[in-house]
Amino acid sequence: MSTEVREVVIVGSGPAGYTAAIYAARADLKPVIYEGSVTAGGALMNTTEVENFPGFIDGIMGPDLMDNMRKQAKRFGAELITDDVVEMDLTSEIKVIKDGSGNVVKAKSVILAMGSAYREIGLENEKRLSGRGVSWCATCDGFFFRDQTIAVVGGGDSAVEEATFLTKFASKVVLIHRRDSLRASKIMQERAFNNPKLEMMWDTEVIDVIGENKVEGLKLKNTKTGEESTEAFTGLFVAIGHIPRSELVATQVALDGEGYVKVEDRSTRTNIAGVFACGDLVDHTYQQAITAAGSGCQAAIDAEKFLAH
Ligand code: NAP
Repeated sequence: MSTEVREVVIVGSGPAGYTAAIYAARADLKPVIYEGSVTAGGALMNTTEVENFPGFIDGIMGPDLMDNMRKQAKRFGAELITDDVVEMDLTSEIKVIKDGSGNVVKAKSVILAMGSAYREIGLENEKRLSGRGVSWCATCDGFFFRDQTIAVVGGGDSAVEEATFLTKFASKVVLIHRRDSLRASKIMQERAFNNPKLEMMWDTEVIDVIGENKVEGLKLKNTKTGEESTEAFTGLFVAIGHIPRSELVATQVALDGEGYVKVEDRSTRTNIAGVFACGDLVDHTYQQAITAAGSGCQAAIDAEKFLAH
């Protein structure tokens, strides 16, 4: 264990974590940022073109945006560690952070920016056939479904974006939604409705995934009539939202009923002095790259003020 006590350790490397690192580094706090061992860059690493991040007139690819943020943090002296945090003791004045390689870092403040994980439908066969036709990431796995008929489940921006992207590979994409209208932004809905390879299946729930060693079909239920049916598909992409990744701190930091870290109004302060939280880990409502980046900035400023006192 190093005896040095760092000013601030940031856990998580999405837009919130990297923005916190940029601000903390520019404030000369010499931040350490844990990026994760396999998932550095967060959710935007699994997206394609980001059209609504201000400053990029023609859009930017998600992974490029994250790479830029990472390089910007590094340029100002943030220390990037490509590892997972596996344990944290946040309750004492000096916080103790243990990583997957067994290293221990001590810090006066911690910024939590662990983001969110994909929500699952919760079906036994969804888990069993994960990686064998069931996926949560169109950009990672879309290529494997060339000329096939596949389903996407969900009705938000993610589902519509993934379904539209998958039409590049699949012969047909069916977007299955449990209601009769989407919550995705109008511009994305329009693009989807105008896409000849994309079909909507309204008022429908997936109640089982069929297939021995790979996905062969879905068992469906009409949410209005209760009628059940079976349809052939070779792939299922699940895009039904996210759940906050707060499990690592759940016994120490106050969470709300849905597992989001609670912060004091208009700040990133948690219930523990010196511990701040930002990004999708705290955000029920907006969950945008730009709002996550904004809250990362707030967290670094809150940490800087805390350290100054
Ligand atoms: P979301 O907006 O929360 O939508 C989740 C969708 O999944 C909803 O349509 C919901 O149905 C459905 N759903 C939830 N649980 C379900 C279940 N158990 N079974 C079946 N369907 C279920 O999540 P998201 O689409 O991942 O988007 C998250 C945030 O990221 C949003 O703020 C979104 O705007 C943002 N985002 C933005 C972009 C972009 O700007 N390019 C791209 C992706 C995501 P109901 O509608 O019935 O609730």
